[in-house]
Order: sequence, then structure tokens, then C-alpha cells
Amino acid sequence: MDDATRIPIPAPYTGPNVTGGLAEIFIQDGFANDDPRLWVPLSPGRWSRPLCLNVSQGYWVHLTKVQGGGFLSRHKHPAPVHGFVIKGSWRYLEHDWVAGPGSYLFEPPGEIHTLVVDEDCDEMITLFHNTGALIYCDENGKTTGTTDVFDRIDACRVHFKNVGLGADYVENFIR
Ligand code: FE
Repeated sequence: MDDATRIPIPAPYTGPNVTGGLAEIFIQDGFANDDPRLWVPLSPGRWSRPLCLNVSQGYWVHLTKVQGGGFLSRHKHPAPVHGFVIKGSWRYLEHDWVAGPGSYLFEPPGEIHTLVVDEDCDEMITLFHNTGALIYCDENGKTTGTTDVFDRIDACRVHFKNVGLGADYVENFIR
């Protein structure tokens, strides 16, 4: 584009902001390549990296990482989930597709599924936007346990304290 047709970048907004508005969350490196302590272990070979833990609307946005294959227990959602695959591949036992880098997924409320990462996948990383809860259930759909944003916050507090970041480090992600 030559200079005659280039539209100049506008001036930044410097006026007042809304009353009661929250601070943005900006995470330069969501993969936390410089500090693996930001990955909160879920179980051997599985981690969750918090990005936004939203206590006023009951959702959490995070990266799920699985190394060496494995699964996430069968569960149901009472509210929608959005997923976007960044690395590796995985599938649900209940569907016939395989998600890979660039795949987007909407999980409708009420669906029950079991996420599997096959052993030939060294590492999978997927961004999930979970609302409400994961409701773990048995093969008949009967509830066996739950996890929500408040459970995630508690788990982060324990982990961040144990790795020396301090329990309050989780506040960086809470809105
Ligand atoms: Fe799910």
C-alpha cells in the first residue's frame, strides 16, 4: 500500500472509562513456556492453565493440556462449552470426529461425553470456555461428582501456594 492510500492509525482513547468496570486480563504467553508452575495439575499427565476465572457469571476459560495420552472422565454440562484446539488431537467416545489444531467445538447443555487423547499424541492443548460446571456421571448418567469455577479457584490457590507463587496469585485470573 502506498502512502497516499494508507489510512493513519487513530489517536488512542484517553477519555473517561465506565464506572465500576473491571481491569482487563492480558496474558502474554498462555502456554507459560517460561514458568511451568502456571499449569495446575489435574492428575498425572493432565494440567489446566487458568486464563479467566469468572465468579460473577460462573464460567472459566482455561487451557487443558494432556501429555502421553489419557482421558477426561465422562461428564455432562448444564451450560454451554466452547472449545478450540491449539495442539495435538483428541476425540469424544460419543462422537465419530477427531479434533485437531484449528478445530472449534460447541458443547450443548445436557450432552454427556468422555474426552480421549490417544497414546500416539505426545501433547494436546485445547482452550475451553466452560460455563456452570462439569457434572461427572456414571454410565447411566447418574451424577458422581461436580466441579465449577469456585472449585477451580480453590485448586489454583492450593497449587500456586505449593509452588511458591502464593495462593493469592490466582487473583490475577479472577473477575
Ligand atoms: Fe465437556
